[in-house]
Amino acid sequence: MDVILRNGTVVTANDVYHADVAIEGGVVKRIGTALLDRAAREVDVRGKLLIPGGVDVHTHCETELSGEMSADDWHSSTVQAACGGVTTVVDYALTHPGQSMIECIEQWDARAKGKAVIDYGLHPTLMQPSEKTIAEMADVVSEGHTSFKIFMTGLAGFDEHSTKYVQAIAEAGRLGALVNIHCEDQTCISFHTQRLEAAGQSDIRHYPDSRPPISEGIAAQRAIALARVADAPIYMVHLSCQESLDAINEARAHGQSVYAETRPIYLHLSRERFEEKIDPERYVGWPPLRHADQMAVLWQALDHSVLQTVATDHIGWSLAQKKKHTKVDELIPGMANLETLIPMLYSEGVRKRRLSLQRFVAVSSTNPSKLMGLYPQKGTIAVGSDADIVVFDPDKQVTIRHADMHTKQDWELHEGFEVTGWPVMTLSRGEIIVENGQVLARPGRGRLLKRKRFADVRNIQDVR
Ligand SMILES: [Zn+2]
Repeated sequence: MDVILRNGTVVTANDVYHADVAIEGGVVKRIGTALLDRAAREVDVRGKLLIPGGVDVHTHCETELSGEMSADDWHSSTVQAACGGVTTVVDYALTHPGQSMIECIEQWDARAKGKAVIDYGLHPTLMQPSEKTIAEMADVVSEGHTSFKIFMTGLAGFDEHSTKYVQAIAEAGRLGALVNIHCEDQTCISFHTQRLEAAGQSDIRHYPDSRPPISEGIAAQRAIALARVADAPIYMVHLSCQESLDAINEARAHGQSVYAETRPIYLHLSRERFEEKIDPERYVGWPPLRHADQMAVLWQALDHSVLQTVATDHIGWSLAQKKKHTKVDELIPGMANLETLIPMLYSEGVRKRRLSLQRFVAVSSTNPSKLMGLYPQKGTIAVGSDADIVVFDPDKQVTIRHADMHTKQDWELHEGFEVTGWPVMTLSRGEIIVENGQVLARPGRGRLLKRKRFADVRNIQDVR
């Protein structure tokens, strides 16, 4: 064997048990108690959890937005991931209107290739789809890129091109692929933005009011209705509030296949942050932070299987970039979040008894793997699966400090936040890529993943 992790507590979406895990050729070879095998490297992980590496299916590792290039790149983003216990990302390849998705994926892969330290998938965006774009979807799926992103906002001209977007959702359904939808209603956002402007309130403090919960709720309802029209399953990204959850519950009560993601910032932060005197721009995301009562709503929705996944929407910006624009409709959204995703979800979720250990693994690894066609290669610890394993110390106390993080941002979103539980070793395909905070991974070792179709997974796997 190459590596044996001895005396660990293995956690999967279904089980928690004590075992040794033996790894050879990049995959898990044997799991059992007191294995007689010998390995080149044996590690006693008594008292530690062995969890499948996190699978973050919503990242922007190295992306241009609003004419700015993100501060993080594929190397710094995936190093953050590895240090934080995430071993797979699925990143959005943002096409230009009219651009071939295959060409865009090739460009994205060319950027990632020499830099990524963990495996990655790519979902292309459907940006103002034409007949030609829709015709290309079959090729994209057969190349192993089995999910597509749609933005409902003005960024993608959703309202002007809605018929084509519904055609594209229907085509995804026909192909057995999964459409990922960003639910915010542009009419509602524009109305509120204009009203704030007229009242002289278009500064950062009023940002959450420019995109209120109803703008997300309306869009969620519409996305669900259009998916029903198209007869296709959908996956709704970064939901933040009760309005959207109500729409999901109603759709499921009618038997519709609807899956949903939330994002760490909505679990850990609330809109009071925009009252802060120093750099409130740090907290800007699409959608905005909500009232504090929504945090408990989201934790419960994760626990009760209303939400299936947590994903970061990671994108690293310098503070100067974040502060470049000041009007509510021009603010640059997003922040680096890959390194703290797993420890904060464990600390705030499992330690505070909001999630069981199994549910923690389900929402951060197993469910996203299943939804994006990576299971069981990724998303679990099982014989034959990739040995993407995190040795997690459940008692390690860490105060989050920018100085200790690996982002190229010059600031840290959760500065000073105290967590209990942190990864002490990360393995990717059996290779120890981080050990006690030391990054051992060679840039470019990460591989582009070809993914299965959701339709092939859906009939044999529950995603709850
Ligand atoms: Zn995003």
